Amino acid sequence: MNLHEYQAKELMKKYGLPVQEGRIATTPEQAKKIAEDYMCPVMVKAQVHTGGRGKAGGVKYAKTPNEAEKHASKIINLKIKHLPVKKVLLAKAIDIEKEYYLAVIMDRDKKSPLIMASREGGMDIEEVAREKPNAINKLWVDPVYGLLPHQAKQVAFSLFDNKIFALKNTKIVSTLYQLFIDCDAQITEINPLALSTQGKLWVTDAKIVLDDNSLARHPELEGLRDPDPGEEKELEAKDAGLSYIPLTGNIGCVVNGAGLAMATMDLIKKYGGEPANFLDTGGSSSPEKVEKALSILLSDKNARVILFNIFGGMTRCDDVAKGILKTTRAMNLKLPIVVRLTGTNDKEVKNILKDSPIDYVTSMREGVIKTIELLEEGREKGEER
Ligand code: GDP
Ligand code: MG
Repeated sequence: MNLHEYQAKELMKKYGLPVQEGRIATTPEQAKKIAEDYMCPVMVKAQVHTGGRGKAGGVKYAKTPNEAEKHASKIINLKIKHLPVKKVLLAKAIDIEKEYYLAVIMDRDKKSPLIMASREGGMDIEEVAREKPNAINKLWVDPVYGLLPHQAKQVAFSLFDNKIFALKNTKIVSTLYQLFIDCDAQITEINPLALSTQGKLWVTDAKIVLDDNSLARHPELEGLRDPDPGEEKELEAKDAGLSYIPLTGNIGCVVNGAGLAMATMDLIKKYGGEPANFLDTGGSSSPEKVEKALSILLSDKNARVILFNIFGGMTRCDDVAKGILKTTRAMNLKLPIVVRLTGTNDKEVKNILKDSPIDYVTSMREGVIKTIELLEEGREKGEER
């Protein structure tokens, strides 16, 4: 889960990091008012879940409240990498002497947090890594021992030549690490960590990505979620006990169990098809779940044919078949449907579906081949949804 800059800054501030002062505005008038309150030049900054906002025109310097209002009205209408800007952060502008980079990320290969520090801050760190890999200092932290005091100093010394200044600011390194650990983050990043002309360091841009799998341990952080367009459906599915991930193909899949979902997608690919989604209804497939699954799937305009691949264990196949029939009729669904159902009570399925346009098969391979055939037929007829 991505946090916005202002949310990341709030967390960092709570931890005592030297965060540049700022407030959020959703309208140009509010932006002007905040700039008036601050009585100094401000930065007007788009709050979207992506970096590189500066280059996209989403970070602007304003000398006066009127300028802040003007910038805000432009930025609030902006889309940065397809993400609409809904809020701007007004931050008291800092007179920057030099920009540094400091981050903690999870290095999965090394199974350890990795601290990265660079004197080439401000720009995209991937660019620095490509062009000047030696300009990034890396330190892996043993998760059992945690960050040891001498290691934090080592990172600070790699950034600042003045040893006294480095020692004075070592706490920034250890605090950023602690925040990373405490909130089970995947990334805590400051870029730039700006050195002002007065010789003080400021968190001027902040990024935090939390590990979704750890959010159950942090209910207070779940509240910071601001879904991006497209992400809403995944969340709606999650609330209904389904697991949904949109993909780029045109075969809508409803499957019970993640393993079976994977196997179905593999088979679709093997026969030259492309799944429109990954949709796992979980171990059971009650009619309510089938209905929810279909409504989520159909809101994705890419699906041209639907394949159900359900194994009835605890779930009875006759119940599922009735559920599918009832739901597709109630929804007046026009798309071709292939149903593969095996397991408990599957003998009755044929009878239940016999008067419907649904294609019923018992093997997975057959189901996938039939689905791709229907897709091709539809394409030949030039059918649109
Ligand atoms: P990003 O482009 O999404 O990474 O947004 P940043 O917040 O990092 O801003 C981009 C650039 O704008 C920074 O690297 C700075 O050069 C500049 N910038 C951001 N905040 C300030 C500020 O308070 N004062 C000054 N002078 N420049 C700033
Ligand atoms: Mg930045």
